[in-house]
Amino acid sequence: MSLAEQMDTVTDAAAGTVDRHATTETFESTAPATGAVVGVFPVHGDAAVGATVARARAAAGQWAALGFDGRKQRLTAYRGYLARRMHELADLVHRENGKPHADAILEISLAVDHLAWAAGHARKALGPRRVASGMLAANHASYLEYQPLGVVGVIGPWNYPVFTPMGSIAYALAAGNAVVFKPSEFTPAIGAWLAAAWRAAVPDVADAFQVVTGFGATGAALCRVPVDKLAFTGSAATGRKVMATCAETLTPVLMELGGKDAMIVDDDADVVAAADAAVWGAMSNGGQTCIGIERVYATSAVYDRFVAEVSAQVQKLRPGSDEEATYGPMTMPSQIDVVRRHVADATAAGARVVTGGTDDAGEGYVAPTVLLDVPETSAAVREETFGPTLTITRVADAEEALQRANATSYGLAGSVFSASKDRAMDLARRMRSGMTSINSVLTFASVPALPFGGVGESGFGRIHGEDGLKEFTRAKAITRQRLPLPVNLMSFGRPAGAADALARVMGMVHGRHR
Ligand code: NAD
Repeated sequence: MSLAEQMDTVTDAAAGTVDRHATTETFESTAPATGAVVGVFPVHGDAAVGATVARARAAAGQWAALGFDGRKQRLTAYRGYLARRMHELADLVHRENGKPHADAILEISLAVDHLAWAAGHARKALGPRRVASGMLAANHASYLEYQPLGVVGVIGPWNYPVFTPMGSIAYALAAGNAVVFKPSEFTPAIGAWLAAAWRAAVPDVADAFQVVTGFGATGAALCRVPVDKLAFTGSAATGRKVMATCAETLTPVLMELGGKDAMIVDDDADVVAAADAAVWGAMSNGGQTCIGIERVYATSAVYDRFVAEVSAQVQKLRPGSDEEATYGPMTMPSQIDVVRRHVADATAAGARVVTGGTDDAGEGYVAPTVLLDVPETSAAVREETFGPTLTITRVADAEEALQRANATSYGLAGSVFSASKDRAMDLARRMRSGMTSINSVLTFASVPALPFGGVGESGFGRIHGEDGLKEFTRAKAITRQRLPLPVNLMSFGRPAGAADALARVMGMVHGRHR
């Protein structure tokens, strides 16, 4: 299918999720590199969002009733469909988000792998099991299972428009929920493409995954409908609003928010590898990565070599939208002002700037920028920059590095470079974040079995892994009496001495422990 045909399909699909007559307002999605219109999409209001969720609710029963095997079969068909059309979807991601085609392929590959894992592990993580009943209920059998919630609303960002929402969508679907997804207003075509692909790959349960498009108000409508859980990925500022709206209907929320992730480079680190990872972690995707490295704390022993290596490596980077470009334009134009403010603020406070290959990166682009000697109080160290920038700070040792890495209101992820496994594991454990990669960056995101999520202002709850499946379920506990006991303690008919007998038994079993 050509890109033009595909765009017709996705636009039709987005419009087709609701009664066209109910939605008159539309908005354009434009390519950040050229300004060309990528697609025109409905601004779904309260009524349209309500109708979509009602359809999802009707489909949720059918989807849940398919059971683990039936759902796995359909999620497998969906993943196959995506895998066969990787280049087509990557073209769209390149156009609408701006990232290089190769990076889009990497992103889609991760999403496909997570789909496979979620579908393949749902039964083991969530299915019915017997648990030990314990001494007081020894005559009962006890059962635990994790049941779907119903309809999960997913609100997503634009920076990883396939991988990030799929972390919620795949796991929520595998757990037996229907999903309504509100993509970012900067990447609606990608969201609509994903839903159109679902309809094409899994027509018998098409309404189990639908999309609504629009701005913040459409997201707020999804919170208010209500849905049975709202999985939000975006900035901490919007996260607060989403929580407040969800509070109106007591809708539980999952919050995947921003970060200010740090890398620690210890005395014995492989400096060249650490620099390579820091540059990729900071600059890939134009730095628009929630788990991107924004700060490095390098010990005095390695600082000079590390700075020299990073400086040499950023010279090779060139933003652009051609095939050789290392990263693309800023997807959201207003983010350029945030990056400029952070850099200006840091230089005003005495920071030194090491800029990469293209000082004048062109309109819509930001040159790779490394900042040295930035005061810890400045915005470039404290706030999420979300651009191709990196601060590098000299510290006495790894302990000081850890202290500074943890001195942030965020706590999403981070990285430790050290040749000592024990030392690195100890630092990783004490890093105040949901995820840490040792001797690499971002790797945890590509391990489907590992949970993904933050602490502090980076949010709460987890996608990915067993935790990510359980996030979209409610635990259900059942006991079944197998045989009656001669003495039933939970009956008004119990004998007068039963409590004394119980106290004696408890004394014998537990009383000896001091
Ligand atoms: P954003 O907060 O501006 O928007 C996110 C989504 O929320 C969009 O779909 C938007 O339309 C919607 N929205 C806006 N106002 C709303 C409201 N009042 N009610 C409901 N929905 C509303 O974020 P963004 O600029 O799209 O994404 C960048 C941010 O996302 C960064 O902070 C980044 O770190 C974060 N992020 C986090 C993760 C993670 O997994 N932790 C992953 C990717 C991005």
